[in-house]
Formats: sequence, C-alpha cells, structure tokens
Amino acid sequence: MASGEGGMGLRLQFSLWIGFLLSLVLGLLAYTVYRHEKSVLTDSLEARGSSLTQMFARFLVDPVLKQDFVQIQQLIMEGREHRLYQHATLIDAEGNILAHTTPTFQGRKLADTPFVERIGAPAGSLKDAAGRDRSVAAYVAAIRDADRRSEVLIQKFAEDTRRWMEFSTAVALEHGKDVNAFLRVGLEMGPAIDAVVRETQRRLLKLFLPAILLGILLSTFLARYIAGPIRLVVASVRRIAAGDYGRRAWVDGPRELTVLAESVNQMGSEIRQRITEIDDARKELDRKYFEIKVLFEVSKAMNFKSYSPELLTYLLDMILDALNSSWASIMMLDEEADKLRTQHVRGGSWDPALAPQIAIGEGIAGRVFARGEPIVCNLGHLDPQFASLPGQSKEFEQSIRQLICVPLLVENKPIGVINVVNKKDGSEYNDSDLRLLVALASQAARSLENARLYSETIRESKTGLFVPSYFSARVGDEIANARRFKEEFSLLMIDIDFFKQVNDNYGHMVGDELLIKVAHFILDTARDSVDVACRFGGEEFAILLPRTDRAGAITYAERLRRLTESSTADADRNLPAVTISVGIATYPADGQHYASLIEQADRRLYQSKETGRNCVTA
Ligand code: GH3
Ligand code: MG
Ligand code: MG
Repeated sequence: MASGEGGMGLRLQFSLWIGFLLSLVLGLLAYTVYRHEKSVLTDSLEARGSSLTQMFARFLVDPVLKQDFVQIQQLIMEGREHRLYQHATLIDAEGNILAHTTPTFQGRKLADTPFVERIGAPAGSLKDAAGRDRSVAAYVAAIRDADRRSEVLIQKFAEDTRRWMEFSTAVALEHGKDVNAFLRVGLEMGPAIDAVVRETQRRLLKLFLPAILLGILLSTFLARYIAGPIRLVVASVRRIAAGDYGRRAWVDGPRELTVLAESVNQMGSEIRQRITEIDDARKELDRKYFEIKVLFEVSKAMNFKSYSPELLTYLLDMILDALNSSWASIMMLDEEADKLRTQHVRGGSWDPALAPQIAIGEGIAGRVFARGEPIVCNLGHLDPQFASLPGQSKEFEQSIRQLICVPLLVENKPIGVINVVNKKDGSEYNDSDLRLLVALASQAARSLENARLYSETIRESKTGLFVPSYFSARVGDEIANARRFKEEFSLLMIDIDFFKQVNDNYGHMVGDELLIKVAHFILDTARDSVDVACRFGGEEFAILLPRTDRAGAITYAERLRRLTESSTADADRNLPAVTISVGIATYPADGQHYASLIEQADRRLYQSKETGRNCVTA
C-alpha cells in the first residue's frame, strides 16, 4: 500500500468500507428475501396441508361411518407412501387411536404414543391469538359444535432439528350432528424450508459475484479519483519534508484536491525560496567570518612578526589559502629601474630574481600599479590587457587562466602589487575574493612600509650601513647566542687613514665619495644577512662577524684592507687611494661584554695606527 508508517492507506480504507457496506446491503437483502420466501412457503404449506387434510377427512367419512377400519388403515398408509404427509392418525372423541401410519399404535390412547407420532400438543400448551385454548382436547370439545366442523387446526412443533406442521380436523358428515372421528395429518417442514434456503443462497451467490465486481470497480474508481490524487499530494508534502522542494505535485482530480495540490506546490516553492535566501545569507556570513578570521590572523602575524622574508611567505600562503589559488607573487617598485620587480613567490617554482621586470603601465600588473586600482582578469593570458614579457616562456604565460592583481598602497601611493593566479577549482575570481585580497594587500602594504621605515631608522643615510644603536643591540644578541652555544665571534673597528688630509686636499664631497666607496667594500666583503656593518662615527666603521674566530676575522680584515688599498684610487679624476687601519677583538677571549669588546678593538685599532697604518691588529 501507498501508506507509509502505520495506519491504513486510503485505498485500503475505501475498499474495506465499500466491501463492508456491500456486505451489509447484500446481507439485509438476503435476510429479507429469505424471510419473505419462508413466509410464502409457510403460507403455501399451511394452505396445502389444510386442503389436503379437509379432502382426506371428507374421503374418510364413508369408511368411518361403515366402521371399516381395515380400509381406513390402508388409505392412511397409502397417503404416506404417496408422500402426501409423513404421518396421519384417526382418533375417536375419547382419544383412542382408530388408525395410524404406525399400525402398532392402533387401539392405544393417543396420550401414550411417542411424541413425534402423537397428534396434538399437551392440553393447555397452545393458545390462539384471541387467547383461546387450541389444544387437541379443547379442539375436540370445540369442534363438536356443527359450525366448526370443517375448521382445520394447524399446530407447529419442533423436535430436535425437525420441524413439524400438523393439521387436525373433524371427520363428519357435512350436515350431520355428530362428529365421528378426528383426523391428524403431520407434514415435516424441514426439507421444504431447506430447499428454500438453498435456493436463496444460490440466488444470493448469483447476486454476490456482480456485487463484488461492482465493489472492486467502485473502490478502484474512488481510489483513482480521490485516494490517487491525495496520494500524490501526500507524496509531495513528504518530499517537501525531506528537503526536496523542486518537484511539483500534479493532480488531475476533484477541484478541492487540485486546489490542495496547488497549495502544496506553492508552499514547496515558497519554502524553497526561503531556504535559498537563508542559504545565501549563511554563505555570505560564512564568507564574512572567514574574511574577518583571515584578516585577524594576518594582522596578528604582521604585528608580532618582525619584517622578514618569512613574513611575506606567511602572507602569500594565507592569500593562496583564502583565495584557493595556485600561486601568488609580490612585485615591488625598483625605483632605480622604474620597473616592477618580483620580490617573493609562493606556489610557483621559479626564482623571483630571474623573473622579468615589468614597466609601469605595462600588462596587468603595470596597469594596476599605474592606476592604483585592482584588476580581476578571469580571461587570464587571453585578456587583451595581458602583456607577453620578453624572457618569459609562452608555456608559462599560457598556464595563467585567471589572474587577480591588487596594488600595495601606502597612503594611496602604490609601492608594489600582489598577483594571485589560477583558482584551484577552476572557478572565476569574484567580488568576495577581490574584497579579501584588497584587505590583505592593505595589511601587506602597511607591513612592507613599516619594514621600510624601520630599515631607515636602523640605517645611516650616507652609507646605508647600520647605526651604532642597532649595531650594539645586534652585538648584545650575539653575545647571548655565543654564550649559550659556546661559540666565538669577532668585532672589527676600522678607521680610514689620514682622512682629514683627503678632505683638506680634495674637499668634503670627494671625502664623502670615498667614505661611501669604503662602505660598499665593507658590504661586498661581508656575508649577506650574517655580518652586521655599522658606521660608527665620522670615518670609522665597526663590523660584527658572528661565529668567526680571530683567524677568520684577520682573513676578512686583510681582504677588506687590500680591497680598499687597491680599489679606492680613481685615475680618471686623479683621486688618490686611501687605506684603512683595523683592530680586532674576539669573544670571549678579549671581553665578554659590548663595552669591553669595543674598547679592546679600539685599542688594537690605535696600535695599527701606531705601527704605521694600513694594517690589521688582532
Ligand atoms: P688618522 O690616520 O689618524 O685617522 O688620521 P685622520 O686624518 O683620519 O684623523 P681623524 O681620524 O682624527 O680625522 C677624522 C676626519 O674625518 C675628521 C673629519 O674632517 C673627517 N670626517 C669625519 N666625518 C666625515 C664625513 O662624513 N665626511 C667627510 N668628508 N669627512 C669626514
Ligand atoms: Mg682616520
Ligand atoms: Mg677617525
């Protein structure tokens, strides 16, 4: 059945109700027919029995008057043989049996014969509708009156399963005064009635088959017409409950059901619309939450991590994750070349240093930088704004399917751009991607600007070397490191020889040029992001060489001394070469604190000056 959990389906209920009603109607019909047939039969049996008894009584008048009991007995037996009755008795007024279908009863008193064969019920047990005694005794008494002689007394008895109808009448001359005898005839009603019942059953069966067929047809029709459409509506409501709002219940049935189905459909589409709205709002909220989370994480990282390449790595990784993209890069303005140079890449496997530079206004990144506005380019390399760069492989360029580029702005002035390339799921960049990237780029720009400002405060402007305060802090860090790991490090103090004379002879400008030249030699010979070079004062420099023992420091100092001696002269401008004097102090042998180490290095620098300059003292 279509019905689901528990309860009966409509179709079954319809069928059962119709079946029940049909059975009730047919049952009532059958009972009525049966009752009717039975009463008709009973009437006809009574009429038949009465006339038979009267006829037989008249026929017996003559033998009774002649007292020919042998003939009477023969006649009674013949009647039974011809199945006119089942038994018959002739009695006189005193109840003595004159003749009987069971011949052995002849001569006995009626009261002594067995029940079935006896005629008449016990005295006093039968009353007619008017309350008169209708027992045989009363009848015999009553029938003596001439005017009731032809009357037939009918009595019915049941004995076990057999039902009897007995007819009693007087055997007398029509106009004679005396009643000579009484005749009793018994008919068994059973077989006749049973035949009626069988006939009724047969007829009812004939009636039943078409009725059942009719019931099936009717219930099918009702089920189709009412239960069918209701099932469709119910199925539709169930689908809605299960979250399938798309399908519609289509009902072609009674008008009320069509209206119901329409309402269900309307409800479905309304719910679907609401759910879509809620879903969209939820997605938007999720996205906002995600953006806020990413921004919070990034700003936290920017605040707590000092500027470093690792910070840019972290930032680009966050961007790749947030925008679900393949690779991202940061390009910064190279002020000297006036071009954008790739500074950092994540997700790509090429060296940023080898990436081609891009001119301001050229291609996507150049345009973004020039205008200070982002570009979302979902056509990738097919976009007309996309520029093919010399030195960049076609294969690489064609791998760019989608690109989003935002400027790094510091107080509305671009300092670089961030490129994010290829959504991993192949979808396009949308407004929310752009919004998030712009927010992240603003964080990045602030961080990069802070880094630049910081680097300005720790570097001295003329030579680009660190300032003494930064230098002393780094030496402090190195002392802590060396102490913990039981390492050595060295400090160099450098002073340009006879610098006053250079100033005096060639002027301050030339003095400055030489100062910058020596600073560059220092940077060139120092190890990148390991050694810390500082302009200590006027024309004095200090260098920290971490994890470097005395011998290493001497090697470095000698190399720098020789480079200065050999490379400072400028023949074209007729400028002389300068030399430097160096003093070295090594931790921990020469001191364990900043002041004592500087003091020792200074002392050795003084010794170098004393011993003729252009030399190294360790
Ligand atoms: P010495 O070999 O003993 O070091 O002789 P010196 O002439 O170098 O003597 P000293 O170190 O005392 O002189 C430092 C001179 O360097 C003094 C100053 O005129 C010059 N000087 C200091 N700072 C600058 C600078 O920024 N630019 C220029 N052009 N000269 C500077
Ligand atoms: Mg000097
Ligand atoms: Mg000096």
